[in-house]
Formats: sequence, C-alpha cells, structure tokens
Amino acid sequence: MVSRVIPVDTFDLVIFGGTGDLARRKILPGLFRRFLAGQMPPDARVVGAARAELDSASYRDLIAKSIAEFGGPEAKDEEGLAAFLTRLDYVAIDANGVNGWTKLANMMHSDVVRAFYFSVAPSLFGALAERLHQHGIANAESRIVVEKPFGRDLASAHALNETLAAHFNEGQIYRIDHYLGKETVQNLMAVRFGNVLFEPLWNNHFVDHIQITVAETVGVGGRGGYYDKSGAMRDMVQNHLMQLLCLIAMEPPSQFDANAVRDEKLKVIRALQPVEAHHIVRGQYDSTATEKSYREDAENPRSFTESFVAMKVQIANWRWAGVPFYLRTGKKMRARSSEIAVVFKDLGHSIFEGDISRHRNILSIRLQPNEGIDLQVTIKEPGPGGMRLIDVPLDMTFADALGDHAGEVSDAYERLIMDVIRGNQTLFMRGDEVEAAWKWVDPIIAGWEARNDVPKLYDMGSSGPDDALMLMHRDGRRWREIKG
Ligand code: NAP
Repeated sequence: MVSRVIPVDTFDLVIFGGTGDLARRKILPGLFRRFLAGQMPPDARVVGAARAELDSASYRDLIAKSIAEFGGPEAKDEEGLAAFLTRLDYVAIDANGVNGWTKLANMMHSDVVRAFYFSVAPSLFGALAERLHQHGIANAESRIVVEKPFGRDLASAHALNETLAAHFNEGQIYRIDHYLGKETVQNLMAVRFGNVLFEPLWNNHFVDHIQITVAETVGVGGRGGYYDKSGAMRDMVQNHLMQLLCLIAMEPPSQFDANAVRDEKLKVIRALQPVEAHHIVRGQYDSTATEKSYREDAENPRSFTESFVAMKVQIANWRWAGVPFYLRTGKKMRARSSEIAVVFKDLGHSIFEGDISRHRNILSIRLQPNEGIDLQVTIKEPGPGGMRLIDVPLDMTFADALGDHAGEVSDAYERLIMDVIRGNQTLFMRGDEVEAAWKWVDPIIAGWEARNDVPKLYDMGSSGPDDALMLMHRDGRRWREIKG
C-alpha cells in the first residue's frame, strides 16, 4: 500500500504552555512525526510560549530532549530532528502580563493559518484570548485549541464558553477530547456508516446491551491533588466515555460534516435518562503491602472522591429504548484497556443441540492496546463429532490488517492538530455538547455530595468493586474481561 499524506496549508502554531508536560509529551513529539511524514509545509512554524525566560536555542534543546524521550522510534532520525527543530521558536510570555506580546505579534506571518494551542490551566484561557485580540495577533480566521478539563460543572463550563465567545466564534474554537482522535473511534463511524452489514442491526431489536470500558493501571500518584477535586466522573465519564457513547448511539448524520455529526451527538446526550442512584457504583483503590491507597496518593485521608465508576445508562429514544449501556472506568485496574463492546441478542430459536445462549455475536472496538475491531461469530468446531459450536473472532487488528499502513495509526494528538490546521471540527466538541454533558452529570455528582456517598474500596489489579459486578449480574449479564 502506498502511504498517503494529505498536505495542509502552511501555518503558524503558537503553543501557550509550550514548556509544559502535555506540550513536551504529546504535542511536540506529534508535530515532529507529522513533520517527518512530510505534512508540515516548508514555511510552517511552531512557537512555544510560557513564562520561563528561554531563548529559542534553549527551547529547541528542551524539545529535542522531550522528543528523544517521548517521540518513539522516529526520534532516532537525527537529521529529521535537526530539521524539525529549525521550525521552532520561543517567546517568553505571561498570559496575565504585558511582556512578550509585541514580540509574538512580530513573529506571525501573514496569509497563513494561525492556530493557538492553550495548553495551560483553563483559568488562563480568558487572559490569552483577550490579549491575542488586543495585540492584533488573532484574526477572524485564527483558531484556538483548548484542553480538558472544560469546566467542572455546567456553570463553570458555560462561563468558560462565554469567556472564549467574547473573542472567538464557535467555528474558531477546537475543544480537544483526544479519545475522538483515536483511529478506532473514527473507524467506529466508518464501520457503522460505510458498511451495509451493521446499521440494520444497530438498534434495540438486535442489540442486547453495550459496554464501554476505559481501564487504566496507573493511580493518581503525582497528580493526586488535582484529581481529588475531580474524580472519575468529571475526569473521564463527562468527556471521554460520553463522547464514545455518543458516537456509538447517534443517528446517522446526513453527511460527514462537523456540525451534522455534532448535532447528532448532542441529541444522544439530550436523550440520556437521569441515572438512578442504585445504577451507579463508585470505588476507590485500596492499599497493598507495597503500594499506597487512593487516599494516600491523594494525600487526603477523608477523601470521598471516586477513582472508579461503573454505571448503567439508558437512552430514551426509539432506537435504544430498553438497551442498557454499561459504562465503567477506573484507575489501578487489572490492565490498561479501553473497549466498546456491542453485545447482540440471542438467537430466537436454535436448530442445534446445546445451549445456544452461550454463543453471541459481539462487535468489540478496542481503543487500547492493539487498536482494532473484532466481531465474535459462532462457527462449527472443526473436526468430526457432530455440530459443536465455538465462538471465534473475525479479527481486524490494524497492525495485521493494514500491513505497512499500520504505522500510520498515529497518535490522536497528531491527527487532531492537523485537523485544526485544516479547519475540520468534526472530531472536536462543540460548546453546547459540553454543556449538555455537564447538565446530565451535575445532578449525579450533586446526589453523591448530598448523601455523603462513600466509594467502595477495591483491590488494585482487579476489575473494581464487587458491587460493579453485581450491577450487571442483577440484569443477568456480565462485564467483559479487562485484558491488556
Ligand atoms: P504543566 O506541565 O503544569 O504546564 C503548564 C504550562 O503552562 C507550562 O509551560 C507553564 O510554563 C505555562 N504557564 C503557567 N502559567 C502561565 C502563565 N501565567 N502564562 C503563560 N504560561 C504559563 O501542565 P500540562 O500538564 O502541560 O497541562 C496543560 C493543560 O493541558 C492543562 O489545562 C491540563 O489540564 C491539560 N491536559 C494535560 C494533559 C497531560 O497529559 N499533561 C492531558 C490532558 C489535558 P511557565 O511556568 O514557565 O509559565
């Protein structure tokens, strides 16, 4: 297969927070890989901005080290790295201050796409947006990219939207949810809307239930202070899991266009039913002889914040009425694994002997590890001895199926940044989507707070608290195994 890189217009990309963890671990290594792939036009420039008093040479040194650490195998390409570094500049700027802005204004080229990545705390978004305009750096075509967390409830998300709207219109604002940049997530749409096979089955006549799992093996050590004010519901469910839920549940958009897709996602969020308290399980990881508990990691011995949440969610519309969506996410779980599983209903009648209900078609969409999609189908076990049935996966692990192209299963950030330059907002959250998600999540969190709900302890390396297993057992169903 021939690799195909779609060129983008030339650009100036300014990364506020250009010395921070996200910029060094994800954004710049991602840009480097796009550069090596030939996707950075000859005049395209990246400017790092932060308060530290660095010159461009020392910024390049810093980024060279980051790429060596986080850039993957491509980082060994010394010539490529040297060429990429010539595209980088740095300007010392305090978002709340006056210095540096004129210098940045002078660095901007005319007639190129201008994009500003706000890789800083959300409390700085307003100051950055205002100064970009005040100094004539942003124009009507400029784009801004903002990171999560986008608010911590409906009121703060609304205020953040208003702050940005004072200087940029919705078509200029790119709210990142990096889950949407994953190859498999986009493939979910390709599978649903590019094949005749699935869409007729994609409803309550054929689907028994859907499971969405995002399991991490890491704890909150190192960012416990931040996490303890957030918890799994705010940190993972309100954004990532809900975005996945929307893509799996939405109606086919009339076209693959940013607003058409986002309109359909918004309808899903608005159709979510309030969740009853007994349909949610919260957990906190316990200590072991050698590892700290959540409360120790968070340095808060009385913390009621959840590091795990599992819930049963219903969508009140014609397509999904009666089909439960089971969501779960947690830290310090058995394996690092993210998966969406569409579990189809039993056959109405079997012509074979034995319990046919043991055999089910399951479409599983793996986000990590080994991005790919497989469909579990029932076949005859090979060999003599009658009609014994077994389940086998029709596997489409991208690394196997796509051969040389597998290397192009690029990091979500790379794809999303290039989409910003292209002006394609399809994989970014619109302001009304984010607010609608908070509107659904807020009463759940308020309920916990009102009841002083105490999360259940669970063992590290497990699948979460036993109550989460019971959530499904009560319905005669079981979670899929969390496999790395
Ligand atoms: P970080 O490591 O703390 O970096 C913050 C960056 O902002 C630094 O470059 C810092 O440099 C700069 N900065 C701080 N105050 C500033 C000011 N007043 N004016 C200009 N620059 C300022 O944070 P991070 O982990 O990179 O996260 C950045 C944003 O991305 C946050 O909103 C975070 O929630 C979000 N995010 C991060 C990750 C991740 O994996 N790290 C994942 C998802 C979302 P100076 O101190 O020199 O100014």
